[in-house]
Amino acid sequence: MKIKTYAFAFIVLASMSCETKKENKEVNPLLSEWNTPFGTPPFDLISSEHYLPAINEALVLHKAELKEIENNKDKPTFANTVEALELSGATLNKVQAVFYAINAANTNDILKETAKTIAPKLASHSDDINLNKVLFTKVKELYLNKEELNLEPEQLHLLNETYKQFVRAGADLNEDKQENLRTINSKLASLSQSFGENLLEETNAFEFHTEDKTVLGNLPSSLVELASSEAKKRGHDKGWSITTQRPSINPFLQSSTDRDARKVLFDAYAQRANNGNEKDNKKVLQEIVSLRVKKANLLGYKSHSDYVLSNAMAEKPEAVLDFMSKLWAPALEMAKQERDVLAAKMKQEGVVGEFGGSDWRHYVEKVRKERYAFDEEQTRPYFEFTAVREGVFALANKLFGLSFVQLDNVAKWHEDQQVFEVLEKDGSHLGLVYMDFFARESKRGGAWMNAMRSQMNVSGHVTPIVTNNFNYPAPTANSPSLLSFGEAETLFHEFGHALHGLFSKVKYRSLSGTNVPRDFVEFPSQVMENWMSEPEVLKMFAKHYQTGEVIPDDMIEKMKKANSFNGGFGTVEYMAAAYLDIKWHSLESSDLQDVEAFEKEAMKQIGLIEEIIPRYRSTYFAHIFSGGYSSGYYSYLWSEVLDADAFKAFKETGDIFDQTTAAKYRKMLSQGGSKSGMELYKEFRGAAPEIEPLLIKKGFILAE
Ligand SMILES: [Zn+2]
Repeated sequence: MKIKTYAFAFIVLASMSCETKKENKEVNPLLSEWNTPFGTPPFDLISSEHYLPAINEALVLHKAELKEIENNKDKPTFANTVEALELSGATLNKVQAVFYAINAANTNDILKETAKTIAPKLASHSDDINLNKVLFTKVKELYLNKEELNLEPEQLHLLNETYKQFVRAGADLNEDKQENLRTINSKLASLSQSFGENLLEETNAFEFHTEDKTVLGNLPSSLVELASSEAKKRGHDKGWSITTQRPSINPFLQSSTDRDARKVLFDAYAQRANNGNEKDNKKVLQEIVSLRVKKANLLGYKSHSDYVLSNAMAEKPEAVLDFMSKLWAPALEMAKQERDVLAAKMKQEGVVGEFGGSDWRHYVEKVRKERYAFDEEQTRPYFEFTAVREGVFALANKLFGLSFVQLDNVAKWHEDQQVFEVLEKDGSHLGLVYMDFFARESKRGGAWMNAMRSQMNVSGHVTPIVTNNFNYPAPTANSPSLLSFGEAETLFHEFGHALHGLFSKVKYRSLSGTNVPRDFVEFPSQVMENWMSEPEVLKMFAKHYQTGEVIPDDMIEKMKKANSFNGGFGTVEYMAAAYLDIKWHSLESSDLQDVEAFEKEAMKQIGLIEEIIPRYRSTYFAHIFSGGYSSGYYSYLWSEVLDADAFKAFKETGDIFDQTTAAKYRKMLSQGGSKSGMELYKEFRGAAPEIEPLLIKKGFILAE
């Protein structure tokens, strides 16, 4: 079954508690110069205890730099104010970027504690900057006279963005209101942190253990193996354990013929952080939502959505709801038809009882096999993770001439990690990409990219270092890591984010790479998924891990047909979550809401059928309550509009590797956030994006 992975590229609020170690006198490797290959972080020298003191020290440094800008008695200029602000805090940026990367991908108690400790500190630090009257007055003076400053376009954009950032953060408010805002920001930072931690612990705590192998149904052998090693890890001497982590639960829901077992797992998944214990997220999110309304009101907006979207391509919640309404009705209609087909299949099997959410994935696989003579498990051997990685590298080579060299002289945060140097066609260095493939307890769920060092070019070109992180099943003694089609697609997706970071050719860090509006940021990643499902591309890499046989044409054909089945479900479960996000954040009252009743009512309003639950329910909706996607989960769909339309640009040339289009596409990405998303898109495509290509792609309307 193709479950689209809406991976996140969000920034996790970081943290720490201070274990006093005896190394006070030692040099903190995070703060010294990195005389390493390509200036990479010396993970072999950095220990978890180094982050807190380094961040504290970097904060002191940054404060001193800001004081200097503030105390400068010269008339404000772009250089002594806007650019000086942009360049300040370099050490803090450097340390934070590494900390966020490792805390998300390979955390431990010390790092978690660090994250907790620094979250409120960093929030209040950024308030100290954004609410600083002297700094704001200088920026405002420049902003009001910007026409006379003779700035380059990127500088002008930086000035506009800097001014906007101050205003949106409350710089124009009186002191009482500013104080109020500070308190809210610091509470929000801690609450977001708690939300994420509760969720991780709830997810790790649950296991379904069985010693009856028939319960696993036809679970592929690699995943049976994984379930067995999970059981051992959890202290059982035999049997199999399934968890609520997606790579474990989803294949189980597809394969197991045991309805009761499926229901136990499905319910455990759907109830995460909603169990009335100390890890329950209801109170946490209630408070987050309420504080966000208060903050929006302070800043002159009627809701959090109004506030957030005023900074996005969509601009207003009404625009988001309007664009979603064009897709919702046909998607829901399709999902209802799918449900009827699946329920009929269950009845035909003689199963007594109502068809429910925990049956959906199982019967999708059955019907799919029957109708299309296709079993997704047949394709896993063609998607061994190394082959998929080589596939995405080959695609980057065909489109952009890039090549990749694995480095063994660079320190890593985990032994499983792989580091590659990315080279241009002429052999020159473009940047580095760190790839971390396998699920483990120290890693949060999902897949994401982050920039461990952003490209910039103020005094010399700083090359980018980006990371890609996944939760693929780890290889076991008897089986390599074989991916589902959806998991393989995720690799292409995250690599698209990586390219966005790698291609960056701007002057200023804050405008580089993926520093773009949220409803643009998923576009360069999702567009890559279009290539992956093209037979031309699949044949480049999808080779059987044992025989080396290239994926057969008829299998591709069947897979494509089979994958389009259940498309209503995929869109509906995603859109239900996007609606839930907008509903929570369109609240205009800060009264605490009953979480379950609110969610139920929101889903009733859109007519969601009870056999489908939102892709994320409120208590485990990390994107919006502990990540940076509040009021922005719709962005993936908006980006799909862009990606379908952009891929059509390649198709129109008759060559999906068309070099002229690829060069234009790369040029668009290389400009990062130095222009508005719409401006960049129009430069690439010659027109605004159209919604039709997406409607066709999803099968909601027919191609002409
Ligand atoms: Zn993404």
